[in-house]
Amino acid sequence: MYLEKTLLEPLMLFGDADYKIDRIHLFRDISEENLERIVKIIQDCAIVKARTGQIVLDTHSSGARLYVVLQGVLGITRQDANSNQLETAITQYLPGECVGEISVLDEEIHSSTISALADSELLVIEAETLWRLIDESNGVAKNLLQLLSFRIRAANAQIRNRQKVGEFYRQLSMVDGLTGLHNRAWLNSQLPGMIEHAHATGSPLSIIMVDLDHFKRFNDDYGHLVGDDALQSAAKVMNAGLRPSDFAARYGGEEMMVILPGTNQKSALAVADRLCSRLRKTRVFEDREKPLPHITGSFGVATLAQGQDAAALIAIADAALYRAKGEGRNRVAY
Ligand code: GH3
Ligand code: MG
Ligand code: MG
Repeated sequence: MYLEKTLLEPLMLFGDADYKIDRIHLFRDISEENLERIVKIIQDCAIVKARTGQIVLDTHSSGARLYVVLQGVLGITRQDANSNQLETAITQYLPGECVGEISVLDEEIHSSTISALADSELLVIEAETLWRLIDESNGVAKNLLQLLSFRIRAANAQIRNRQKVGEFYRQLSMVDGLTGLHNRAWLNSQLPGMIEHAHATGSPLSIIMVDLDHFKRFNDDYGHLVGDDALQSAAKVMNAGLRPSDFAARYGGEEMMVILPGTNQKSALAVADRLCSRLRKTRVFEDREKPLPHITGSFGVATLAQGQDAAALIAIADAALYRAKGEGRNRVAY
């Protein structure tokens, strides 16, 4: 379906047509006598025909009129920039409903493109006529207010949905795809705040830097895919060995970092020892029958000192890790 930007073709005058006025939402629940006055006002309104794909309102239209759907269906549509095809409409307007009322009231341009999803017939109510109707009938004013509150609720729901989707993707972008641990972006965004908090409250904070031993050789011997399995197993060990207040992140390659808020050096060393021995006992399976050699890791522990920032703390953990490697790997150093 293609969008067409041609003039809507006038069809006939309201008085000649066989449309039921009480089907129009704007004129619902209005007394007989009041309805007669309304008909008098709108009988000079034009009725136009919109062919399938034709634009009724877009962001260039000024807010001079509102359209009531008498027949057919309109929808908020977006045009695909590449194919020029119309995307499917999410919001549809069926007979009795109207479009464009907000722009008539606030005299602003339209925020979306509305076009005919099927051949449609529309009653055109010019801004001036709508204001006369509002003056003439409390019922019309009340129906319009109801319609506006419905639109506000729908817009709010849409905003909430978008926020949820945004939050979902934000969370997703903070997780490492292979291990399911927090990733480096998460670490960069969270660690400084945790350190600030520790300084402010005077509570201790420790980190453990973990690097798998001879992992290059492991990959060479067993292949990269098995290497990935081993990394996942190692990540599980880190995650399973922590309290809810602790965090494990993949720092890069085969390096992981564990953050232990509220933990002094002695306790952090105990945690590192526990993780080191659990990692040593973990087996990586290629399949159920064929156990592969165990993996080990080297652990560097650092505890936050006064005035230290994230970079300084990480440098100390790195230096400790380097010592653990030098002393023979598969161990903890601080
Ligand atoms: P060391 O004990 O000194 O740490 O030796 P190493 O071989 O582990 O050290 P090095 O940093 O030289 O090698 C790290 C290896 O980790 C190289 C790289 O192929 C592997 N590696 C990094 N990320 C991944 C990954 O996502 N999957 C797999 N399978 N291997 C990875
Ligand atoms: Mg490494
Ligand atoms: Mg390594």
